[in-house]
This record gives sequence, C-alpha cells and structure tokens, in this order.
Amino acid sequence: MRLLVTGGMGFIGSRFLHYWLEKHPRDTVVNLDLLTYAGNSHNVADIRDLPGYSEVRGSITDALLVERVMAQEKIDTVVHFAAESHVDRSILDPQRFILTNVLGTQTLLEAAKKHTVSKFVHISTDEVYGTLGDQGSFNEQTPLAPNSPYSASKAGSDLLVRAYYETYGLPAVITRCSNNYGPYQFPEKLIPTIITRALQDEVVPVYGDGLQIRDWLFVDDHCAAIDLVIHGGRSGEVYNIGGSSERTNLVMVKRILQELGKSEKLIRFVPDRLGHDRRYAVDTSKIRNELGWKPTHTLDEGLLLTLDWYRSNQSWWQGILDGTYQSDTFNSNKEG
Ligand code: NAD
Repeated sequence: MRLLVTGGMGFIGSRFLHYWLEKHPRDTVVNLDLLTYAGNSHNVADIRDLPGYSEVRGSITDALLVERVMAQEKIDTVVHFAAESHVDRSILDPQRFILTNVLGTQTLLEAAKKHTVSKFVHISTDEVYGTLGDQGSFNEQTPLAPNSPYSASKAGSDLLVRAYYETYGLPAVITRCSNNYGPYQFPEKLIPTIITRALQDEVVPVYGDGLQIRDWLFVDDHCAAIDLVIHGGRSGEVYNIGGSSERTNLVMVKRILQELGKSEKLIRFVPDRLGHDRRYAVDTSKIRNELGWKPTHTLDEGLLLTLDWYRSNQSWWQGILDGTYQSDTFNSNKEG
C-alpha cells in the first residue's frame, strides 16, 4: 500500500507511522505535516531513514501541494490525523480550528476524490457527541452535539467526510476515539501535564472539581484499531474506538502522583474550563464485533509504560518546555 499520513509529526500520527512501518515494512508512507507547535520531528527520528518513509512539510489546506503529493507518490490510502487538537486553544482561537480541521479536511477530501484513492480514513473524536450524564455511552448513531470550538470543528469535518461518501462515493471511513495517552504526547494534554509537572515538583492544575470523567485509550491500541479499519472498515461507516477505562480526572491525577512518589499537595484546583464536558464514554461493540478489535493494554499497564517513558525521556519533554524542539530542520526532499 502507499499511504499518505497527515499529522505524522504529532502524538498519535507519529505512533501510527512507527506501528505501520513495523507491521507493514514493504509499504510506502508519506508524512505530510505543517510542523505547527504540536509537531515534533524528534517523534519520527528513528524511522526517517527507513526506505518506505518520506516526509513533506506543508499544510493540508494547500490544495496544490496535497494534489501534487497524492499524484507524485501514487497514494492509494489516506490516513488523516492532522488537526488542531487542543480544546483550550480552541476556546482562545477558534478560527484556526475551523481553517485546519474543516477547510483542511475538505481540501484533502477533494484531492482524494480527484485522485480516486481506494480508502480515506478520517480520525475523529468522541467529543463530537457532546457530553453524557452518569449513565450510558455514545454509539455510532448518537447525534452529534459538540460543545467546544474544537469538537465543533471536528464534527464539521466528520460531516464533510460523510458528504463526500454520499455525494461522490469517496470510500471514506470515520473513526471516533476516546482520550489517547502514551509516550510522545505533547505536555499540554492532561496526562503528560501531570507527569511533567510532578516530575519537576511543580503545581499540578486540576479543572473545577476534577470529577469530569474520561475514557482512556492507550495509543498503540488505537493504532491497531486504525489498521483494522484501513483493511476491513466499510466505506461510509463510523467506528468508535475506546479503552473501556473510565476514570475521573482527579483519580488519574492522584494515581500518577502516587506512582511517581509525589505528594497530593501538588494538586491545585483551578477555575473550570468554559463549557467543560462532564463525561465521555464510548460503546465500542461495533468495532469489536465487526473487525475483531479489542484493547490489549489495561489502563494500569499503559499508564506504567507511559510513566516509564516520560521518566526516561526527560530531554524530549524538556526540549518542548524550553522551546528548542523546533530548531531542527525538516528532513524533506519534497519541501512543500
Ligand atoms: P497532535 O496535536 O499531537 O498532532 C497534530 C499534528 O498535526 C501535528 O504534527 C501538527 O503539526 C499537524 N498539523 C496541524 N495543522 C496542520 C496542517 N494545517 N497541515 C498539516 N499538518 C498539520 O494531535 P494528536 O493528539 O496526535 O491527534 C491526532 C488526531 O486524533 C486529531 O485529528 C485529533 O482530533 C484526533 N484525536 C486525538 C485524541 C487524543 O486524545 N490525542 C482523541 C481523539 C481524537
């Protein structure tokens, strides 16, 4: 296969590239990434020299570039991760999210249509479904009810993917996953924020009462699910992906502090995020029954792997905290 992976310098995209090249070493992958603040070329340092890997720096909103890459590289499969992904930033600057997540996705869809790719996998989020009370979970039929500019922009992109399938017959599939965690996650998201601040004996901020509930999915399990969707997912369908591991944010914070041998006195409750969703939970029976997927890491196992990684790779996250991580040149022979 010849894959175009967008956003492969980010957290999940870079783990997916590693996963794919190990599992399918004869395939070709092109990593298209703008290297925004969330992109980090160190995330792919150890796969850059593999024969099947190449990278292009550029934006998914650049129609000429996207079309050129798809044609030149004879792409047959698009796996679309690139996005503005942080809810707090979307509250401060919603427009960037619309440009990247909505217009960027439509630009990719249009190029994929022209180029007649055989599969377009759009990576979305359970946040498009909105928020839940104490009971129940989101299934693929749950109406979209996004509450943040981020989730609204992802919902917009999901609807465009659906429209390209319905209108033009583009063989597109949508995945909606819960909160990912694992090595290489940018330290603005909950788990790496807790870990990196605790390791430096800094205050750990907790929004509101900390009783918001999230479902946690280890990133490698997510990558395995996407592999199954690429190979067996039905066009026009949505597949939820989740770790079946619901915890309150406060429980996660306390667990991590305990594991790192740090005091709960580091916890500082701060005013809640605007429009903060209370609970997410996803029903994953469709992908389990149809494609035979299930997560292989318990939350305890995944968390310990993650903590070990952050402890052993301080230079990676220190480089982000001090801003030096973006000083590397992009290893591109096809600069966009
Ligand atoms: P991330 O923020 O770590 O990485 C995003 C990547 O996209 C970065 O490398 C960035 O440089 C790139 N990018 C941003 N704008 C771009 C543009 N215009 N053109 C090309 N590249 C661009 O994100 P992530 O956490 O790896 O998430 C990947 C995808 O998964 C996103 O679509 C996100 O909405 C979705 N998702 C993530 C989670 C999670 O828990 N991390 C949960 C549900 C869904």
